Amino acid sequence: MREKIIESLKSKLNRRVWESWFGTFDIKEIDTDHVVFQVGNLFIRDWLEKKYGSLISKTLREVFGKHVSFQIDYAPTQSQEESKQDEPLVKKRPLVLTPLNPILTFENFVVGPNNMFAYSTSLEVAKNPGKYNPLFLYGGVGLGKTHLVQAIGHYLFKNEPDLRVIYLTSERFLNELVDSIKKNKVQEFRERFRNKIDILLLDDVQFLIGKSGIQTELFHTFNELYNSGKQIVVCSDRDPQQLEKFQDRLISRFQMGVVAKIEKPDEETCFKIANKMVQLEGTQLKEDVLRLVANHFSDNLRRLRGALIKLIMYQQISNEIVDVQKATELLSVASLQAKKTLPEEKLIDALCKIFGVTQQEVLGKGRKQTVTNARQIGMFIAKNHFGLSLRQVAELFNRSHPTVSHTIQKVEELVVSGNIAVKNQIDQVIKYLTDKVSNQSV
Ligand code: ADP
Ligand code: MG
Repeated sequence: MREKIIESLKSKLNRRVWESWFGTFDIKEIDTDHVVFQVGNLFIRDWLEKKYGSLISKTLREVFGKHVSFQIDYAPTQSQEESKQDEPLVKKRPLVLTPLNPILTFENFVVGPNNMFAYSTSLEVAKNPGKYNPLFLYGGVGLGKTHLVQAIGHYLFKNEPDLRVIYLTSERFLNELVDSIKKNKVQEFRERFRNKIDILLLDDVQFLIGKSGIQTELFHTFNELYNSGKQIVVCSDRDPQQLEKFQDRLISRFQMGVVAKIEKPDEETCFKIANKMVQLEGTQLKEDVLRLVANHFSDNLRRLRGALIKLIMYQQISNEIVDVQKATELLSVASLQAKKTLPEEKLIDALCKIFGVTQQEVLGKGRKQTVTNARQIGMFIAKNHFGLSLRQVAELFNRSHPTVSHTIQKVEELVVSGNIAVKNQIDQVIKYLTDKVSNQSV
């Protein structure tokens, strides 16, 4: 039965797909109506479930002649890097609560001006735990926080196997506490987090916003660890000050050590990151394709990776090299471009150039004539030419909804009444934007 299932699956897939994704795929258990598969990597598991779930279902139905459910388990194997090393067996394995993603190491992290500080402090923390305590890493979604904090975990895992390292998300921290309360085991929970670890890597702490009970628990855990010189690393999508409704005492704890921000990568860094991601998938994409994708997804590297994987999959399944045109089509970059090039940077940039004002002025409250003019024209264009909603325009220009609505209406009236000056200004801004867009790599 086992062979039959595997063979049948294999026959439905292109050889390269099989090799890339099913390399560690195996069957752990077969029941009359349930099959448990196993893979060696958490991320492959997620990918298989998402992309090949229905194919696996279909195959099982064929082989068994009826519906058979399945699950894919993840059995961590030692990462290749570690198995190469001859580590003394007597050394204890550090405790890693959540399995770390083997890819998220310092070696695989591309350093650029946007993340230099966060990277160096993380590395320093990994080399000298306790030195910068706590380390608070923050930055927008998908900019590499989890990567860095897990890299610290990997580094310690490899170099300081005696240290007890715990990586976990704040959600998990909360769930474990809730669980322990249900089972009447809060004492054990406390014991474990306060006394049985040397390094706490706590991800996504913004998850605890508004959850005051768990904040109190974290506060005491924090103090206990801190006072015994144990390293704490906290990640968040915003800076400590902006953790609304967080207990002040916790916020001030977060600020006691080093606070490091990760910014959006610039074009070149993003290209290097894209390159690295493709290389880690063991394959290649054309350079102009990489540049195109990197430029469009620089504000969220998780989406960047998703886009690259999509192209890689296409390339593997179709056996055809993806070029810029194909990539544009597959990722509908054209529509992305329309959205992305507009609001924030490009439109404001155009206004500054055409009206000779600064970004601060346009987005500020000043009432100087040229500035007001630039702002009004900008709102009009954002709404009428780029299709932003009034709410989006209001956000972009930092104004109230009624103000924006009123302003745009005024400009519309001027245009309709044939006001040449206003019309010229609008045309100039649009021309500037279109020239800019057509000069870009797409
Ligand atoms: P965050 O936790 O900030 O939301 P992640 O750490 O999950 O973001 O990063 C999103 C994706 O981008 C991951 O696949 C990660 O490996 C990758 N990534 C982010 N920054 C870098 C970098 N500097 N070099 C290489 N890969 C990166
Ligand atoms: Mg994260």
